[in-house]
Amino acid sequence: MSAGKTKPTKPVSLAPKYVLEDQWQGYRTLPWRKKEKKDATVMFNFVERRKSYFLKAYFDRNGFKSHDMGDHIKEDVRWGKEYGNRMECNPMYFTSGSMLRNLFEIEKETGLSREEIARKYVYLCGGGQCGPCRYGMYPQEYMKVANDAGFKDLRVIIFSSDIGAKELVKDNALPMNLMFRINLIIAVILADLVHAAECALLPYVHDKDLVRSTLGEAEKMLLDAFRSKAYIFKIPRALRKVGDMLAAIPRREEKLPLIFVTGEFFANLAHNDGNYNLRRFISEEGCEVIPGNLTQRVLYDNWRRTVEARRGVRFAADNKERRFWKKSLRKQRNSTAVINWLYRRFVKALAPHRFGARIELMDLDEIADLGRDLYHPEIFGGEGNLEIGEAIHYSGKVDGFISSKPFGCMPSSGVSDGVQAKVMAMYPDLNFLSIETSGDNDVSILSRVSMLLFKARHKAAARGAGGGRTSAKEMVEQSERSPSGKFAVKSVDDIVTETS
Ligand code: SF4
Repeated sequence: MSAGKTKPTKPVSLAPKYVLEDQWQGYRTLPWRKKEKKDATVMFNFVERRKSYFLKAYFDRNGFKSHDMGDHIKEDVRWGKEYGNRMECNPMYFTSGSMLRNLFEIEKETGLSREEIARKYVYLCGGGQCGPCRYGMYPQEYMKVANDAGFKDLRVIIFSSDIGAKELVKDNALPMNLMFRINLIIAVILADLVHAAECALLPYVHDKDLVRSTLGEAEKMLLDAFRSKAYIFKIPRALRKVGDMLAAIPRREEKLPLIFVTGEFFANLAHNDGNYNLRRFISEEGCEVIPGNLTQRVLYDNWRRTVEARRGVRFAADNKERRFWKKSLRKQRNSTAVINWLYRRFVKALAPHRFGARIELMDLDEIADLGRDLYHPEIFGGEGNLEIGEAIHYSGKVDGFISSKPFGCMPSSGVSDGVQAKVMAMYPDLNFLSIETSGDNDVSILSRVSMLLFKARHKAAARGAGGGRTSAKEMVEQSERSPSGKFAVKSVDDIVTETS
């Protein structure tokens, strides 16, 4: 071969060397057909008690037998770990464990065998979306733990994914159609509004039991309205009455430290053992917490899909692909418009400004732009860019900022433990705390939160000195009384002694 000439290389075949004809498909779930509707009971819960409480209205109105599994409790993690795969994220253990705990309770109460229970119940859940996190594996995990625990072939219905849509038969007993989705979002909005009222009232009233009993009554009134066939008219009427009841509760006129909580979906929005009842703890400690709004999170999902669809239209390889993305874009726009319309209509009826509830939704384009340089808004998975944009948005506006991340969460590890370090360096007044929820270890986590609240009180005192109704001195004195008495904070030295 002459100098300068190279030997032509042989083209490399990219075809796989071995093709497994019979690939692993995972667990399959059987359809639940219309003719079997009366034979089975739907079991469900979503993130926190109030969401499933209100969704029950849909099942009652449409003749389904249903079993509301309510809040997640600590015991659920144990069941999830006992039967689940190793090294899963914390919400996976909480949710699969909750399903198992309820199945075992049903077994005890009814005396049915596990095989019979698997035939007589279906489990409604979320999960199955693709993305750089475990959410895509949730349905498989539910089927695994149910089968391993002896509830063989328990049917699993997924409401939040297109995965498996082809397998859904036309005569499905519980179709994931438009009406179901509208009812689901109404349940979410109602639960969010009641939660916002709780966050607004609890820290500002002397008689906390009055708040709890009024909220309980409000929940019953809203459920009754939602059960009616004319729910779209009856809910606003019920909300007006609920708003009057809540506005009549005597409220102290003062400014308390304001805390914002964010983080992964479940660790942020489970207002139960799933996140140590974080917002209630903050309220009881005499600080105001901005409510965790699931409607906002649903709108983020629509926003994310809209961005994806716009990119798809722009870079489509052919007309067929372009048509697909345009259809997706229309779907997201319509869905967003319906959610916004319902939310505005219900908020107007409730008139939450009368009792100080914070119900504003964030502008997601603005949040994306704020954090763009630090976390690109088209990196999806988990909560995407939300937490970074929120940190910048709330810097200087709140007295404490908490990021709640589940043990073993992949996207949150990159954000709360990673990018937030840069945000803190850029916005040092943020008073930022990252906590990890694991289903145990409450004392250690909540004492860290109480240290953040201590700092927040002093920040609020400095802020309130200029225009608050309570003087700075009064505010510090009042905050140091530690209303819940769980963490009576007098000085930093006390905190160090308590936690060491
Ligand atoms: S975002 Fe994190 S905690 Fe949530 S499902 Fe994904 S990996 Fe699990």
